[in-house]
Amino acid sequence: MKNFEGFGLNPALAESLVRMKYTVPTPIQAQAIPLALQGRDIMGSAQTGTGKTAAFAIPLIESLLKNPRGSALVLTPTRELGKQIMDIMHQLLGYKSKINTAFLIGGESMGKQFAQLKQQPRLIVGTPGRINDHLERGSLKLHDTGFLVLDETDRMLDMGFSVQIDRIIKYLPAKRQTLMFSATLPKNIVKLSDGYLNNPERISVGSTINPSENIKQEIIRVTDEGKYAELVRELDLRKGSIVIFVKTKYGTERLAKKLNNEDFSADAIHGDLKQSRRDRVIREFRKKAYRILVATDVACRGLDIPHIEHVINYDLPQVPEDYIHRIGRTARAGAEGSALCLISPQDGRKWHAIEELMNPGQKRKGAPPPHRGKRRRPGKPSGKVGGNAANNTSKYAPKKGPGSGHKNGPNNGPKNGKSKFYGNKKKSRIAA
Ligand code: AMP
Repeated sequence: MKNFEGFGLNPALAESLVRMKYTVPTPIQAQAIPLALQGRDIMGSAQTGTGKTAAFAIPLIESLLKNPRGSALVLTPTRELGKQIMDIMHQLLGYKSKINTAFLIGGESMGKQFAQLKQQPRLIVGTPGRINDHLERGSLKLHDTGFLVLDETDRMLDMGFSVQIDRIIKYLPAKRQTLMFSATLPKNIVKLSDGYLNNPERISVGSTINPSENIKQEIIRVTDEGKYAELVRELDLRKGSIVIFVKTKYGTERLAKKLNNEDFSADAIHGDLKQSRRDRVIREFRKKAYRILVATDVACRGLDIPHIEHVINYDLPQVPEDYIHRIGRTARAGAEGSALCLISPQDGRKWHAIEELMNPGQKRKGAPPPHRGKRRRPGKPSGKVGGNAANNTSKYAPKKGPGSGHKNGPNNGPKNGKSKFYGNKKKSRIAA
């Protein structure tokens, strides 16, 4: 399939694709769309940033256009991901469309959602908790909904939505088309798909565990005391938008504040923020109103902002799979990006779990030896990630005083005689 024309889509939908400048289907779209248009159930796995959303959104809209009484439901783990899905759906529907939609996510006013539901929406996108809430109140009916999408199913299960999903599915007719997507395919997902899908076609693009090859991955071993200074040095060296992942909600706010005090422009996002604030933080980041977004995993999952050039794992993720989701925030849609992990001494186990996920069964090499040489500036990806960690090792020259582009130059870099630390740290690109 060379372009979208071969799919024989409804002219209104084809027109939207032209307007969106989608000319050639991505591999997951080339596989999923023809099967879904035939009415098949699909169990799909694809790397993040591969065009997965349109892979289910295009057949979904086509089905709504074909069946004037049909309706569809998309379940998504997070509000942010839901918003992105909704946005793509609206672009595909086009501004002239008479198909009403409802966006049912937690943390937003019920009143607004009741109003949307009164308009008899034919497309519902939402998070499992709020969808259940509406089902139980009777404000949402799904007995006629013949098209179901479960997006990022692995994440929904990780977030404990399994029971909620089960409940929701009981409200749907047994005779329906179901598309299920998951970044990873652990056993519980495969088992779930047996229950929810009818003779599904399994499709996958690339490996389910390998992130995009356009991401240059690096690690730096740090001490707890030197970690923040190291981060500041790395931020100084980078240009473009950056997402920093930290472990705790409080940690995101504290770090964003510290960075702002040093004249970096940063904001924080986490699950405890009010929805309106979360929306604003993302909107401003998208507009490049500030450069550094400090986030927890949940808040940033699935975020599609093409200009994110760097992902920094200030804290390692609790679950190794989240490493792949995190670094998938960069190098979107074929762009290049870089991912950096700051690894503290106590992170050994977590890091090994990530290495094992990336290179199953491979003998670990421990910390790569230091190597004298000029440090490559991050931000200019070297292309393919991979190879032997030891071969890719480079030592990182200590910063020579202030003035690296960060306004408060004298405040960053080694402080209080901690410069010794810089000579001891190891930096390496990791094998992927
Ligand atoms: P996703 O994996 O769905 O988050 O998509 C990643 C990015 O690719 C988004 O910015 C989409 O708008 C973009 N995209 C998806 N499909 C296509 C396509 N066929 N042509 C161009 N861009 C696309």
